[in-house]
Amino acid sequence: MENTLAYARQMDEKDVLRGFRDKFYFPTFCDDVIYFTGNSLGLQPKSTKEYIDQELSDWAKYGVEGHFLAERPWFSYHENLTSKAAKVMGAKNHEVVITHSLTTNLHLLMVSFFRPEGKRTKILCEAKAFPSDQYALESQVRFHGLDPKDHLVEVAPREGEHLIREEDIYRKIDELGDELALVMIGGVNYYTGQLFDMKMITEKAHAVGAMVGFDLAHAAGNINLALHEWGVDFAAWCTYKYMNSSPGGVSGMFVHERHAEKPELPRFAGWWGYDKSTRFLMEPGFKPMFGAEGWQLSNAPVLGMAAHLASLDLFEEAGMDRIGAKRDEMTAFLEFVIEDISEKNKDRCTFEIITPRDRNKRGAQLSILAHGQGKSLFDALSKQGVVADWREPNVIRIAPAPLYNSFEDCYRFGQCLEKAIQ
Ligand SMILES: *Cc1c(COP(=O)(O)O)cnc(C)c1O
Repeated sequence: MENTLAYARQMDEKDVLRGFRDKFYFPTFCDDVIYFTGNSLGLQPKSTKEYIDQELSDWAKYGVEGHFLAERPWFSYHENLTSKAAKVMGAKNHEVVITHSLTTNLHLLMVSFFRPEGKRTKILCEAKAFPSDQYALESQVRFHGLDPKDHLVEVAPREGEHLIREEDIYRKIDELGDELALVMIGGVNYYTGQLFDMKMITEKAHAVGAMVGFDLAHAAGNINLALHEWGVDFAAWCTYKYMNSSPGGVSGMFVHERHAEKPELPRFAGWWGYDKSTRFLMEPGFKPMFGAEGWQLSNAPVLGMAAHLASLDLFEEAGMDRIGAKRDEMTAFLEFVIEDISEKNKDRCTFEIITPRDRNKRGAQLSILAHGQGKSLFDALSKQGVVADWREPNVIRIAPAPLYNSFEDCYRFGQCLEKAIQ
């Protein structure tokens, strides 16, 4: 690799996904924007408007009859998304449903899959999980009359380290043994970008008889997933990060097929989870749909769903294999650029990439510790059009999104970084 514009352009020319960049709107609030926050809010596909307009005009034309007469009837609108989302998540169709929001879905799934009983009452999670996940976990534990202090067990990085060692997760699982009810971890840590071995965690947790769930907010559309094959019990993700499906957009749920037909499983139910062949008989007594759809509460928010469908069609066209291949190459190039700039300016400032250096242990995100620099460095980047994420005291999170970022973006980021240091 070379930290030159010529090299970056040559890589862009070879990029089989380069045509996708044009399918997105880049922010225009400043000139020459470098958008590296697809891990926080993905850019808007140009096609999104068309998908939403379709529903607005069907609503105008048909009113309530749109449930059956719309081009994509609203009654079954969510079904348009299922197989496309299942492909991205490495799941079978009946294991996936698009519905609600992420934290809502985590709660609904934990209601079913965190069932403390006898000795088996504990949840294992990552230290410093995303705040919403922490609150969800704590309140689930309290909901069962238990104290999070004793029943929420965290695995943290070792003293002086940034990443969680997977061996420490496995050891904790073994230690907890038959006290462990659930392992619930972010598939990719939002802060460090560390990707966990979900297959191995699932295996280890199942070996001691625990359930396993993952929050895939930072994994969906970023990591090549195989949820079915890995045997994960459940998962939830949002679609507005790498999946570009509108601010606060709809979320997805995965429930492994081994739980597809368990009407006895406790759950918080709503009419859209009811067996659709007899849903409108509106009879008392809940009869869940087979599979993940049995966890739906409400009829689909069609406008948000339309935004997600627009994006899923792009993912289908691009394919997760090609997205994953570009992700690894582009992130490695960005890493190279940052190290080069860091080396050249080491008497002023050095950067430490705390994200794993092994590309099998990360996705698109790099989290950078800026030694000897504070927020002023970040502000100097922002002034040059770099849209990144700053976390106190000195961490910059950046994520080149394979669908719309380019190698040239990575090169230009390096130039901005060098200027910011100086
Ligand atoms: C982005 C993110 C969330 C956001 O939850 P919402 O319910 O969509 O607001 C939750 N958890 C993690 C790990 C996230 O990265």
